[in-house]
Amino acid sequence: MLTPQTLGKTGLLLSPIGFGASPLGEAFGAIDPAEGTRAVHLAIERGINYFDVSPYYGTTLAETRLGEGLAGFRDEVVLSTKCGRYGVADFDFSAARITLDFENSLRRLRTDHVDLLLAHDIEFAPAGQIVAETIPAMRKLQAQGKARFIGISGLPLGELARTIGAVDVDAVLSYCHYNLLVSDMDQVLTPLVAEHGVGLINASPLHMGILGGNPVPEWHPASPEVQAAGKPFAALCRRFGLEPGTVALRFCLEHPGVASTLIGIATRAHVEENLAALSLEIPTELRAQITALLAPVQNQHWTSGRADSNA
Ligand code: NAD
Repeated sequence: MLTPQTLGKTGLLLSPIGFGASPLGEAFGAIDPAEGTRAVHLAIERGINYFDVSPYYGTTLAETRLGEGLAGFRDEVVLSTKCGRYGVADFDFSAARITLDFENSLRRLRTDHVDLLLAHDIEFAPAGQIVAETIPAMRKLQAQGKARFIGISGLPLGELARTIGAVDVDAVLSYCHYNLLVSDMDQVLTPLVAEHGVGLINASPLHMGILGGNPVPEWHPASPEVQAAGKPFAALCRRFGLEPGTVALRFCLEHPGVASTLIGIATRAHVEENLAALSLEIPTELRAQITALLAPVQNQHWTSGRADSNA
C-alpha cells in the first residue's frame, strides 16, 4: 500500500515511492518524452504523489517535461525542485542567482510554488556559503510563498550532517548512501535527522541504475567492480522470478526513518515494476545470496565537491 509518510515536521505527506525525474532530462540516456509523460500520469493514477526534479537535470529539460506531465495535476502532488546547481560544473549558490533562477524553475514547472526547494549538491558551494547566504535566501522565498519548505541535498554525509548542525532546514535528500550496495547513511545521517526533526528523503535505490541490471552511463562515478555487480545481481533476482529493480527498491522501502525513496523513472514499465516492490517480500534465501554476492563491493564510495566536505 502507498501509505503516505510525513516528511519531518513539515506536515507534507509523501508516498513512500517518489518519482525521480532526472531520467526525464535524459540523465541516463535518450528517452521517449511521450512515454515519460505517460509514466508521470500512471504514477499519479497509482498513488505516487512525490515528484523530484532540478534545473540541472538535462539543463532544464527535466523541469520542462515534468511541468508538461504535471499540467492539470499540480494540486495532487508534492513537488520538489532544487537550486544552486545548473550544470555539470555550473554551481552558484549566491542569494542573487538562486532567487532569480528559481523564477525560471517555477515557470518551467507551470506552478507558482513548489512544496520543497533543495539546495542542490551543497558540497560544491564555497565553505560557509550555504549556511550564511543560501539558506537565508531560501527562507525568504519560503516567506514569499514560493516554496513551502526548504532543505539540502548532496553526497558527502559529513557535509550534510555539519550543515544540519549549523542551520535549521526542513528536509535533507541523501543519495547513494543507503541501498543494497551501501549503508552508511544510518551511521551518520539517520540518527541526526531524527534528533533534529528533519525530514529524510533517500534517493538512488538502484545506486543510480546499477541494481536495475542494465548498463549505466559513462559518467557513473562508481568503480568498475561496483558497476560490474549489477549483472550478476540481476541474474540472481531473476532466478527467483523477480525483477532486480523491484528487489533493490523493496530493500530501501523497509527503512523506517525514510519518508520517501526516490527512484528515477521515465517509463510506465518501471512505474509498474517499482510499485510491485510495495507488496514484495524478499525471500530469505534470496536475501542471503544477495548479501554474499554484494559483500565484496559493499560500502565503496566516491568523493564529490570540495575536498574538505568529504571529511
Ligand atoms: P536510481 O538509483 O533511482 O536509478 C535510476 C535508473 O534506474 C534510471 O536509468 C531508470 O531508468 C532506472 N530504473 C528505474 N526503475 C527501474 C526498474 N524497476 N528496473 C530497472 N531499472 C530501473 O538513481 P537516480 O535516478 O539518480 O535517483 C533517483 C532520483 O533521486 C533522481 O531522479 C533525482 O530525482 C533524485 N536524486 C537527487 C540527487 C541530488 O539531489 N543530489 C542525487 C541523486 C538522485
